[in-house]
Amino acid sequence: MQDLVRKLLAELGEDPDREGLARTPARVERALQFLTSGYKADIDEVLNNALFTVDYSEMVIVKDIDFYSLCEHHLLPFFGKCHVAYIPRTQVIGLSKIPRLVDVFARRLQIQERMTNQIAETIREKLNPLGVAVVCEGTHLCMSMRGVQKQNSFAVTSAMFGSFRENARTRMEFLELVKLKGSTLSAGSTEAMACMTE
Ligand SMILES: [Zn+2]
Repeated sequence: MQDLVRKLLAELGEDPDREGLARTPARVERALQFLTSGYKADIDEVLNNALFTVDYSEMVIVKDIDFYSLCEHHLLPFFGKCHVAYIPRTQVIGLSKIPRLVDVFARRLQIQERMTNQIAETIREKLNPLGVAVVCEGTHLCMSMRGVQKQNSFAVTSAMFGSFRENARTRMEFLELVKLKGSTLSAGSTEAMACMTE
């Protein structure tokens, strides 16, 4: 990868050998490996020993989880907050595992819509809850830095299953807790399509 980065620097009109850039290829490689480390993560290992059987069926919510990801169209960052809620059927998961689950899917080349779905889908699959809802709010540097369609650089995406999809009151309760306007976000909608592919 370091050779490729050197080539890229030269291609951009830079001198890859000047002092400030000499160690850049190695840094870029390390940074990219970290930022895409989600591919290697084993979900079951991440969730290991953190599933508990409980007699509890109220909404569990973890708000304001920071996420940092890379858009797959431009390899530029998009980042923001993720809010996760579910209603247990028989099992709950340790609360600290939910941000780790978000990291697993954020640390890949992504589009925000797919990342949102993958987080929700994984909770649905692993916990079999009565319902699950995930809302992500992200700022996309590929939009704001490039100066195109700046009004779309902020995107809200959601994925909802089970009681969040079927029951408007449950959905509203969740949206109120995360302080999003329920009127503008219904189950499974996408507020703005960020990162168009131009
Ligand atoms: Zn992009």
